[in-house]
This record gives sequence, C-alpha cells and structure tokens, in this order.
Amino acid sequence: MDAAVSFRIGAAPADLTTFAECLRGTLVRPGDDAYEQDSQVWNMARQGAPLAIVRAADAGDVATAVEFARSNDIEIAVRSGGHSLAGHSTGDGVIVIDLRDLRGLHIDPARRMAWAGAGLTAGEYTTAAAAHGLATPFGDTGTVGIAGLTLGGGIGWLARKHGLAIDALVEAEVVTADGRVVTASATEHPDLFWALRGGGGNFGIVTRFTYELYPVGEILGGALFLPLTRDVLRSLVPIAASAPEELTTIAMIMPVPPMPFVAEEHHGKPSVFLMFVHAGDPAAGQAALAPFRAVATPYGEAAMPMPYPGIYEFTAEGGARHASTTRSLFMDTLDDESVDAILSALEDAPPASMVQLRVLGGAMGRVPAGATAFAHRGASVMVAIMNPFVAPELVEPATAWNRALFAALEPKATGVYANFLEDEGDARIRVAYPGDTYDRLAGIKRRYDPANVFHRNQNIRPG
Ligand SMILES: Cc1cc2nc3c(=O)[nH]c(=O)nc-3n(C[C@H](O)[C@H](O)[C@H](O)COP(=O)(O)OP(=O)(O)OC[C@H]3O[C@@H](n4cnc5c(N)ncnc54)[C@H](O)[C@@H]3O)c2cc1C
Repeated sequence: MDAAVSFRIGAAPADLTTFAECLRGTLVRPGDDAYEQDSQVWNMARQGAPLAIVRAADAGDVATAVEFARSNDIEIAVRSGGHSLAGHSTGDGVIVIDLRDLRGLHIDPARRMAWAGAGLTAGEYTTAAAAHGLATPFGDTGTVGIAGLTLGGGIGWLARKHGLAIDALVEAEVVTADGRVVTASATEHPDLFWALRGGGGNFGIVTRFTYELYPVGEILGGALFLPLTRDVLRSLVPIAASAPEELTTIAMIMPVPPMPFVAEEHHGKPSVFLMFVHAGDPAAGQAALAPFRAVATPYGEAAMPMPYPGIYEFTAEGGARHASTTRSLFMDTLDDESVDAILSALEDAPPASMVQLRVLGGAMGRVPAGATAFAHRGASVMVAIMNPFVAPELVEPATAWNRALFAALEPKATGVYANFLEDEGDARIRVAYPGDTYDRLAGIKRRYDPANVFHRNQNIRPG
C-alpha cells in the first residue's frame, strides 16, 4: 500500500460532502448532471437508484469508499462493466463503487503479460492486445467488463483453445473489506487468489489484474445460419465437441434477423445462428466448419479471416442496454428429450426469446476442478434460456416461458455458471460451487470479509 492510501483510510468521513473531498475521483449524487448516465447498468430490468456513485480514481479511493460505507452502514455495490445479469452492480440506496475509470493497460509483448485496470471492457483490452497479435480469453461480447467476467470464470471464444479468463490470471490487486490493498497471486495470499478465480466479488474489490497473453493472430470468424431442424439441433453438440480445439462455437437458436448475408426470403425463419471463432489456420477453420454445413445447407453465412476483436461485431447488439431475464445450466450433453423440449418451447415463444448453446471442453476442461473456485471444468455444454429486449407488457409471458423451459431442462443439469445466475437464491449459488468448493470459499470469506460487507453478488456466507 502506498503512503497516500494509508493516510486517507483510517478516519472515515461522516458525511457525503466531506467524503467527496477525500476522493481523487468524483462522487456523483442524485441531482448531479452525470447521475442519470452514470447510474445506468446493462440490465434495465434491474436498474436501481443509488445513493451515490463513487467514480474511483485509484485503489485509495476504493479503500476510502469501503470505509465510508462501512462506518455509515450503507450497502455497497461494485461496478466495473455494469453487465451483471442480476443487477448486482446497482441498487436502491446503495453506494456504487465504480471502477470504470481504472482504465490503465500496459502490455509487455515480449513477456506476454498485461497489467489491466479493472474498469476496462473485454473489447478495449482485446483490441489493444490484438495490435501485438496477442489475446487473453474473455467472453463473447466486447462491452462486458473484464472484472466481473474474470472473477466469475470467464467463458468465451478461446475457452477450448486457451481456457478461461481465470486460467490466464497471474495476479490481482485487491482492496479488502478492512480497507487493505493486497496482492493475490500463487505466492501471495494464495487462498484469496484461488477464491478470486470463480468466486466473484465476494472477497474484495479488484482494482488491477495481471494476465498472461497468448499468441492469437488473425482468426477465421463469423457465423452460419442453419435451418432449425431436429437433426441440426441433435448434431450440433457432437460436431462442436469433436471439432479441433481451435474452434469454439456459440449457437443462438432464434429467428433469422435481417442480416445482409442471408437472403431476404429466409429472414424471420427459425434458425441456429452458429457463431464461431477458429483461432488457427483459416483453411483448417473452413474444414472444421464442413461437418456443420453437411448437416443442412445454411440459409446464409459469413465465415471470413478477421482480426480477433472482429468477432465482437456479431454480438454487439446483445451488449447494448436493455431489459433481460435469463436462466442457465451446464449439461453433459443435449439429449433427444432436451432437444424436443427446446423445439416445442420455441413453437410458442414470446418475441425475442432465444436459447444459447455453448459447447465447452478443450483447454478449460483440462484444469483440475479443485484448482480454481470455478469448478465445473468437466461441463460439456452451457445452455442459456434468454429473453432479452423484453417490453414491459411482455415481462410476465416472457418470464413464464423462460422458467417453463428451464424447468423442463433442469433435471438434466450438472451445474450452473455463477456469472449467468440472476438472483436465484442460495441453493442455486451452491449449485454453482459443487463439492467442497462452497465450504472452502466460505472459509476464505470468513477470513477476508467476516462481516459480509461485499454481499451484492452471488453471495458466499462467511463459514
Ligand atoms: C451481454 C452479455 C454477454 C455476456 N457474455 C459472457 C460470456 O461470453 N462469458 C462469460 O463468462 N460471461 C458473460 N457474461 C456474464 C458476465 O461475465 C457477468 O455479467 C459479469 O459479472 C459482468 O462483468 P461486469 O464487470 O461487466 O459487471 P458489473 O455489473 O460491473 O459487475 C458484476 C458483479 O461482479 C463483481 N465485480 C465487478 N467488478 C468487480 C471488481 N473490480 N472487484 C470485485 N468484484 C467486482 C461484483 O459482484 C459486481 O456486482 C455476459 C453478460 C452479458 C450481459
């Protein structure tokens, strides 16, 4: 901890005005010009009205804010990219500790290491790293924050080739509940480091991440629009699972949107929008796609060499702010019963309903389950039932449809990804942390946050 930080913590200011004067960053309050814009989060269905937003300029501001909130008994919400499905980065009457101004990024191409401020988005980091022909695995969407994504695990386009975001994490600078600034790594606070790799925001506020980078040059990326048939859906998982690990696919089962590379006559038809990244030789990528094309002739496709960040253009719409509800699960496979449940649900779905299938395995599956707090290493498929862009009058039918399909699939679930949970209760959080993972996290929580100061998250109760 530097001297300035230790000077500023220890004597928490008693009112918001004095508190604001202690910050290097800014305090935004209701009535301020910036309040409406700064308080917005991705999921409009979970928008809160915070008491104040601390736009932290450094770890010292974060420590000061934690101490102020604690001593005045104000609930803390932590925000980096603002893409929490559950809306945990906002709330009514909370103090939002907002990291979005921590945007420093230093890339050392020779050592293949990056030091990244917690306020960066996956798109910003990935674009800067791509200039060196390097990448760290994040998720499928550019606007998602590296912080929330990494702390939950980070499942994205390079999961099969290079693993999860946490598998590239080397070190984190963390402000703990008692206002200390510590470094967590394999050698310093190793238990905290283990917990941060999947345990979410439970253990402190990360202000800086150090990541490994991998060589990722031009990719073959894009999407195939396959007709939605039983055969296509049944063959999707086996084909994607046996593809070379360079290929990671994310399929959205949804009607064909009006995209330029699909003939107009197909727009609106039920389809499998199979997005992919092949992080390797483009010709090998085309060969890896051939089995999908052999199951059914695509309505249209865009499969082209591109810089790696180019894939974010295919998911940009989902990253924009809107009202959304999601249920998600891991499965061993998508059996015939599950295929039929999805197909029959889609026959009668409210507008904009979709099902996402991510076929996993490869590098992410080779890390032992106990090595990180993300323990679902053996998961083969992640299914997410999504109702994005829900108009107010459709909230009820969309939610009912979503939960009915979830109920049909849940008996086959092998787990759930913490970052894809909404507020679903303690039992579901335990499903995210199987075996002895939850108890181990609860023990670490007791050491680093015994009073459960950081509880607006998929909360681990101090053991
Ligand atoms: C459109 C969209 C696409 C997504 N795609 C993927 C994907 O491909 N792969 C994937 O793995 N996930 C994905 N997610 C889920 C995503 O990883 C989580 O929603 C994640 O929490 C978002 O991080 P954030 O920083 O943007 O969120 P925020 O809303 O800012 O934070 C969410 C929570 O994370 C914790 N947190 C955030 N920052 C910090 C910090 N600096 N220190 C401590 N705790 C912190 C807090 O508990 C906070 O409430 C997606 C989400 C959306 C909305």
